[in-house]
Amino acid sequence: MDTFGMTDFHKKIKYPFALLILLMVAGVYLFVNATGGIKYVFSHSMYLPIVLAAIIFGVRGGLLIGILGGLVLGPYMPIDTVTGEPQETINWLYRIGFFSLVGLTVGFASDRAIFYLKKIKWLANHDEPTGLPNSRMMGKFIRSLPDPFGSSRGSHFLLGIALSNAVEIEMNFGANAVHHVLSQLAGLARSELPCNPPVCRISPNCLGVILRNTSEADMMRLTANLVKALKKPIAFGDLHLHCDAYLGGVVLEGVIDEPRAYIEKTRFAVSVAATKKQYDTIFISQENDAKVRENIELLGELPHALEAREIAMHYQPKVLAQTGYICGVEALMRWNHPVRGKIPPNLFIPRAEESTLIDQVTFFAIDQALGQLARWEKDGITGMRMAVNISTRNIMHRDFANTVQQLLDSHGVNGERLELEITETSFMEYVESSLEKLATLSKSSIILTIDDFGTGYSSLQYLAKLPVSVIKIDQAFVRGLPTDIGSMHIVEVAINLAHKLGMTAVAEGVETRAAYDYLRNTGCEILQGYYVSLPITAGEFEKLYNQYGGQLLEV
Ligand code: C2E
Ligand code: CA
Ligand code: CA
Repeated sequence: MDTFGMTDFHKKIKYPFALLILLMVAGVYLFVNATGGIKYVFSHSMYLPIVLAAIIFGVRGGLLIGILGGLVLGPYMPIDTVTGEPQETINWLYRIGFFSLVGLTVGFASDRAIFYLKKIKWLANHDEPTGLPNSRMMGKFIRSLPDPFGSSRGSHFLLGIALSNAVEIEMNFGANAVHHVLSQLAGLARSELPCNPPVCRISPNCLGVILRNTSEADMMRLTANLVKALKKPIAFGDLHLHCDAYLGGVVLEGVIDEPRAYIEKTRFAVSVAATKKQYDTIFISQENDAKVRENIELLGELPHALEAREIAMHYQPKVLAQTGYICGVEALMRWNHPVRGKIPPNLFIPRAEESTLIDQVTFFAIDQALGQLARWEKDGITGMRMAVNISTRNIMHRDFANTVQQLLDSHGVNGERLELEITETSFMEYVESSLEKLATLSKSSIILTIDDFGTGYSSLQYLAKLPVSVIKIDQAFVRGLPTDIGSMHIVEVAINLAHKLGMTAVAEGVETRAAYDYLRNTGCEILQGYYVSLPITAGEFEKLYNQYGGQLLEV
């Protein structure tokens, strides 16, 4: 019964009530005796102490008082006190049995009710699968901290430990693997950090720990040790799971009456550490509250913005290098916020990628883009390919391939007309687990493209294995053309590599005629960039297309 460790109420009331119940049993005995014996109805008063005992002390209390009450009204209580006639044995035995049964039943119901009440209270403060305290409890821990102001013993820090490959672990080994890994990481944190601090699960993939009265130098040293410990693989059954853990933190300063803000700040700090790939040290957030709040608010407004059509797609043409004709467009997301104005995708897409919102965002983008492509087809702008950017998290989504296929079907578009661009870094990070899912997409003839090629670390071995048919050279290299020797070498190698692997080479960020000519002469098939056209609305694109008959550039 003590599973959830909350018997305070019962402990406090136990002794006075035990005494009261015994007095009631004695009282009922005297009452029945004084009113003439067991033949009158007053013996039913015994139910009162039995039920009370069962409610307060559960099955055991109910049973004990049931037997005691039965005995008190049993062999020593005559049928009639005037005549002194004794009861038949069967009478009092039956009464004891019945009293006990009532005690047992009420006690059982009371035990269950107390168990569930305790469980509800426990669940409000804990994460059930890991048994760790949750963010509400973390809030209570933070509130109970002494004010460090003026203390020579340093500050309090709230550290976050995020498991950045949680989605990958869950997809491959199930949700229990993630719970197990987080429990193990919590154990590690408790043993590595001083004073066995409480570790809470402050979000599905993130743990929080408080370091009390610690100087910044000590905090850095302690977390450096923790980082080392977190690098060891974690046993899960027969497997050893690798954990990508990132550390982020905030200083808990001043009077803390809003712990939630600190917890949000810590989550934000770990997400920055993960974005920056800051593996080896903790990232301490210097962000002010307003900035963090703004970020969180922005993310919160995203679903509404999608529905309210504040978000729309712009389209940037891609042309064939040899002819200057448009062969397709890349759909790029634009948020027209009613208060904040135009918000560039770089401000909200990376945040959405950290949450499940990215699925909604991507399905919205694909739906809009395919709808537009179908309309253009009808209006005579035919034969184009529509490129949409997706994130690795999308591929991990169980139903991604199915949903994309449904969207293609609903717009009556063939798979080969849709191109999905995935950045090189995310491709390589999740290469093993995404191979199968990518293969499903390419079976539907969907074109897969490695975006920002050259910025990640592609392994040649994987590159050949991936069902990818386009390599899109990153703008950072294209910008240096045709003068920067380093960029020229990288672009040439990338184009040759693409051709050796039977893929198409695309260059983005083409801003000058010189870069355009260089790329065309080096064998790059498709070009995209401000020199060709900025990303524009669908209406603007139609005008441009019709004005030049689809040929944007003279060659
Ligand atoms: P990206 O996929 O690399 O997209 C190319 C970015 O370069 C676009 O920025 C585009 O406007 C810009 N660009 C194109 N040509 C030139 C050029 O000649 N010079 C320069 N300096 N820039 C050029 P944008 O639209 O701000 O998008 C930024 C990033 O946001 C994209 O990078 C992509 O990663 C992401 N993004 C945009 N829309 C979506 C979307 O619908 N879904 C997802 N998951 N990501 C998106
Ligand atoms: Ca792209
Ligand atoms: Ca790109």
